[in-house]
Order: sequence, then C-alpha cells, then structure tokens
Amino acid sequence: MHWADKIAEDLLKISDKHRIATGITPSGHIHLGNLREMLTADAVRRAIEDRGGKAKIVYIADTFDPLRRRYPFLPEEYEKYVGMPLSEIPCPCKGHESYAEHFLEPFLESLDILGIDVEVKRADKMYKAGEYEEAIKIALANRDKIANILEEVTGKKCDEKWSPFMPICENCGRINSTVVLDFDDKGVHYVCECGYEGYSDYRSGKLGWRVDWPARWGILKITCEPMGKDHAAAGGSYDTGKRIAREVFGVEPPYPIVYEWIHLKGVGPMKGSKGIVVPVREMVDILPPEAVRYIIIRTRPERHIDFDPASLLDLIDEFEEALAKGDRSAELSLIRKIKHVEVPFRHLVVVGQIAEWNLDKVLEILKRTRYSVSEEQLPELIRKLEYAKRWLEKFAPEKMKFEILSLEEVKNKVEFSDEEIKFLKEFASKLKDDMRAEELHGLVYETAKNLGIKPAKAFRAIYKAILGKNYGPRAGYFMESLGADWVRERLLKI
Ligand SMILES: [Zn+2]
Ligand SMILES: [Zn+2]
Repeated sequence: MHWADKIAEDLLKISDKHRIATGITPSGHIHLGNLREMLTADAVRRAIEDRGGKAKIVYIADTFDPLRRRYPFLPEEYEKYVGMPLSEIPCPCKGHESYAEHFLEPFLESLDILGIDVEVKRADKMYKAGEYEEAIKIALANRDKIANILEEVTGKKCDEKWSPFMPICENCGRINSTVVLDFDDKGVHYVCECGYEGYSDYRSGKLGWRVDWPARWGILKITCEPMGKDHAAAGGSYDTGKRIAREVFGVEPPYPIVYEWIHLKGVGPMKGSKGIVVPVREMVDILPPEAVRYIIIRTRPERHIDFDPASLLDLIDEFEEALAKGDRSAELSLIRKIKHVEVPFRHLVVVGQIAEWNLDKVLEILKRTRYSVSEEQLPELIRKLEYAKRWLEKFAPEKMKFEILSLEEVKNKVEFSDEEIKFLKEFASKLKDDMRAEELHGLVYETAKNLGIKPAKAFRAIYKAILGKNYGPRAGYFMESLGADWVRERLLKI
C-alpha cells in the first residue's frame, strides 16, 4: 500500500474530516526541501479524499518571525532590521508589501503550478486580528507549568526572565529583545534591550515557537502535520508541543508525519554556492510539476532523497511508465486540473529540436510518429514542450543536444568512406514512407549485416549524414520523426 494511503487510513480511523497543517518561514527563498512538507500533505489530502473523507491543507506562513540575521543575499542596510518581524521589514525589491511577501508570493505561485490547494494563513495577520489572544493569556497564566515542561523534555533550564510571549518593542521594532515584566487582561509590561519600557497589547507580539506551535493546533483545529526531522527529534518542538497542547491548551496534538531532507546534486544553475538555494519558483519553471511531485511522492517520507536534475529524463521515463501501469505514486503526482498529454517527454526533447521548437512542425512530426493531440490537449502540449526546451538548455547532457545540418554543412564538416556511402545508398533504397521506428531500427541492422558492416558503423554513418557527428538520438525514433522520405533524400545525396 502507498504510504499516503496508509496514513490516510490511519487518519480516517480518527475522523473523516481533517485539517493538515504546513508551515514555512518566508525568511529567504523557499526551496525544494520545504516543498516536501507541502507535497507530503497534498498526497495525504488526496488519499483521504479518494476514500470519501474530507481534508484541507492549511499553510501557515510564519510572517511574524524575526529576521534572525542579515543573510548573504541581503544588502548591508538590512542589518538594522535584524530582530524585527518579517512582516514589518521592507521588501528587498521594493515591489512587495513586506519582506515576508517578497518570498511568499513566488512560493504561492509555485504551489498553484504544482496543483496544491491551500488555505493560506499569515501568522502576523492572525496575531494582529487577535486570533491568538486567548492562547496568549492561557500561556502567560501557565508560564511556570510550560517552563517546567520545557525543562523536563529538553533537559535545559529555562531562564528566569523567560516568557512564552514576546511583545514587539514600540521603540526599536524588535520582537526578540523584550522581557515581560507583568501582564493583565489587556496586555503586558515589558522592558527592551534598547532600554525602552512599555506596554503592549496581545496583538502586537507573538508566542515563542515552542508555544506558538501547540497554540495554533488548537486555534486552527489541526489534526495532522508533516514535519522535518529536526522538529520531531527527541526533546524537539513536537515533543514539547505535545505536552503543552494536552496539559496547557487542552487539545490533542496532530498526527505527525516526519520527513527526511532532499538534496539536490550540484548541476548547472542549481549548484548552490554558499547559502544560495534554488527557489522552488525557479525549479517549477524548469522541471515539469508532475516530475517534481513524483520525486517526492514516490519516496516514503522517512527516506532521504537525492535528486540530480541531469537524470530528469530517466525520472520522467519512469513516471510515464508507472502512470501507464496505473501506479499509485504516479497517479498521485498528476496535476488534476491539467489534461495529461501522452506524448513521452523524451520524444518531445527530440521532436522539439528537429522542429526547432516550431509548434506547427512539432504537430506535423507528432502526427507522423502516430501521436494524436486533440484541440483541448494543445495547451498542455505547449506547456510540456516549453519544459522540454528549458530542460535541454539548462540540464541536458551534451549528447542529447543536436542540430539538423543542411546537406552543404554536412559535406563541409565530415567525410564519408566508400563503405559508408555504400551503406547509406543501400539503406536509403529500402526505406518505405510508412516505416515505424522499430522497423527503421531493424533495417539498419539488416542492411549492415547484408553488406558485412558492423552495425555501430552503420548507425554512425546515418548520424554523420544528418547531424555531422558520430552520435544522435535513438536512430529508429529519430528517423521516424524526420520522415523516411526526408531521410531517403538526404542519404542518397551524400
Ligand atoms: Zn519584493
Ligand atoms: Zn527596543
């Protein structure tokens, strides 16, 4: 049974309605590793729905978290914003409402491309709207109890000045530099490292992470949550969160799904030099979203994933084969709002190059190679073609790339032996217009054998005559795509 189905069955034993939480801090570019959280949730959501249950994904963007430090991609002036909530810091490009939105917007676009429906909650908006107010009061009233739980579970002593609530300093704007002195029904008195003493209501500050997490389980009625292994480690925030949820807020912690990290092999632009990650938004421009989904969904969450974009073509082959066999991972990787086109991606990589990415020519070749594309499938074909082109430009190994040369270019570039010319003429004379890829492939062998030429030499002669080099795409498919009449005419003129 697929892992997502197994989890769905477990969850449906608890209830037929679920709210699955996901949470990512938009403090920088959101990357592939973060995506595992979203796709794990999405696979489970679909598995629940496929069994007649109801499920929703809530994506909590931690926009109220402080900027921890000035990251290498930030200009020097951002030094002064360290410690301030991400939602209150200006956006680096000046085109977004805030620093948080700058990184959130492309990520939300990516989720849409990947077909992941989410209810978006921004932490700063939740706090400012008072959604946490009740939980903050409960946490402050139970400060010692929470501190005890933290000490017992983590083994670390809580500072005497520790408070579950962190008000924003009215003077310096920082959220991680204040100490709560006392509290009442409306807010807290605090003193800040900057020397300022003030009073803050419960809407301009936030709970520290280990308390915020269990609080939101209750506020948003969360029943399931994927989490990275750091949160799930012994003494980690899920361990403390479970106890705080039950003992302080009186809520049941969500069903946890612990996932491992994803590593991207350093290739081309995805090579991360220090601190630079490939944003998900860029990835979904280069890799077809079904493939991105498949990378993650076919692997059990607790297993580590190493992904090499250069092997994407093999991965897509596997995906397409799996889909044809009705494999569950492949099925869960399809984007349901898109009409799937059954032209293999590998074929499009070759066809696109032959057609020089001209759509009419592509359609002509597809027709010749017996693929039908209906009017309503056309937008999807165009989308797939764009992905094939971008992949070829960014990641394809050199041997995948080719250019059809003119006869003149071929003659200027390469020389043919008498044996090669003899083979090409003999082969050309046997070509029939309606030959399929396998027949063309077989004919190369047969002709070579009859003439006493090694097959490798025969294939090489064909590539030389068309591409001016010793290798090319799988010959049968390649010649079928070019059209037997075109190939015949070319070979006879060598
Ligand atoms: Zn911006
Ligand atoms: Zn201050």
